[in-house]
Amino acid sequence: MHHFNYVADELYCENVPVATIAGAVGTPFYLYSHATLSHHFKTFDQAFGKVPHLVCFALKANSNLAVVRLLANLGGGADIVSGGELYRALKAGVSPDKIVYSGVGKRIDEIQDALRAGILMFNIESSQELLAINKIASRMKKKAHIALRVNPDVDPRTHPYISTGLKKNKFGIDIGRSLKEYREARGLSHVEIVGVSCHIGSQITEIAPFVDALVKLKDLIARLQADGIDIRYLDLGGGLGIRYDQEEPPHPFAYAEAIIKNMQDMDVTLILEPGRVIVGNAGALVTRVLYTKNNGSRHFLIIDAGMNDLARPSLYGSYHAIWPVRDKYAGEKIKADVVGPICESGDFLARDRELPDFAPGDLMAVMSAGAYGFSMSSNYNSRPRVAEVMVKGLEFSVIRRRETCQSLVRGEKVPDFLQGSQVK
Ligand SMILES: *Cc1c(COP(=O)(O)O)cnc(C)c1O
Repeated sequence: MHHFNYVADELYCENVPVATIAGAVGTPFYLYSHATLSHHFKTFDQAFGKVPHLVCFALKANSNLAVVRLLANLGGGADIVSGGELYRALKAGVSPDKIVYSGVGKRIDEIQDALRAGILMFNIESSQELLAINKIASRMKKKAHIALRVNPDVDPRTHPYISTGLKKNKFGIDIGRSLKEYREARGLSHVEIVGVSCHIGSQITEIAPFVDALVKLKDLIARLQADGIDIRYLDLGGGLGIRYDQEEPPHPFAYAEAIIKNMQDMDVTLILEPGRVIVGNAGALVTRVLYTKNNGSRHFLIIDAGMNDLARPSLYGSYHAIWPVRDKYAGEKIKADVVGPICESGDFLARDRELPDFAPGDLMAVMSAGAYGFSMSSNYNSRPRVAEVMVKGLEFSVIRRRETCQSLVRGEKVPDFLQGSQVK
């Protein structure tokens, strides 16, 4: 469900023609729909309405302050993976007691900042991290609330780069060793065990892997309780997939129902960390065709956005639907590669795609780009990062200015020993 629709042959985001925004802010830009974001969050939240729960939006999917603020206004918390994301979450107005902190490589200063802020819990990913957090908390005379992120060794059947819950992945603590690790944690003076967490991967389009993980965690929680270790929070992570092409991911209601059914007699607050399912289909990357060319065997559409703006196709071979902003094309479709200006052969947003016969100057919308789009973008090839825009009804607002060439060199400095003119 989203609010990108054609009225006659003109693509709208809610009630604003996409071409109008392109005229005002230039291209490329990321475009988000307020109504879609709200709808996705509320649907997900309502799905778990029958049980005590907290939805902690995974900031890494889209960390723009306006997006995070919108979700915080709806009662959302945050799943963060760095000090930078902690900063963003707090700045956007997320309540610290709704922030969970995951990630395998938390630094001392990041841990300090999170303790100072008073976050809900750290999802601990190794025994050394556990000891480090205990030590830092003790120096700060604080008690760190923790969950161990266990690796349940289930196969999420997704792309290998975004699978995280297999034994061979770097994430979490092997579930077989976790009981011992919890006993260890219990003996530490400055940590308080409050939860168990896991996150098995991303873009998961079946319910079974989530249930498999839940069953394993449930078993662990029972053992912990038998051991006198009380668990208040069960954090099942994120990972629910979305439709990019022909995928048929479960609806949040079906996902929630399967989870709730398997949680009977459990006295815990459930934490969910959805990212993609909230923002993915709430955003598009709007770009303009610069040139077209044909090398005899292949037709290329060269656009003003590249892999630095949207990395997913080159990184994972991901599919993003491509829609014309003015659907004025009558004739037959052509098969084309949609490529960017970057000096890499991996710089494509679509390959061998049946598309309308786009001409130079035409606008296209690269759909389902709200998650892991802008947040993964870079300045590669010294390209200023693009603007981000949010539409609400008849209004639109630039929620991040387009970077300039000055932004590119901010912080850089030519040292004294290079000052002066030429080598003598
Ligand atoms: C990436 C990540 C998420 C969000 O994953 P989605 O697939 O976007 O829902 C949640 N929790 C953790 C720990 C993550 O690393």
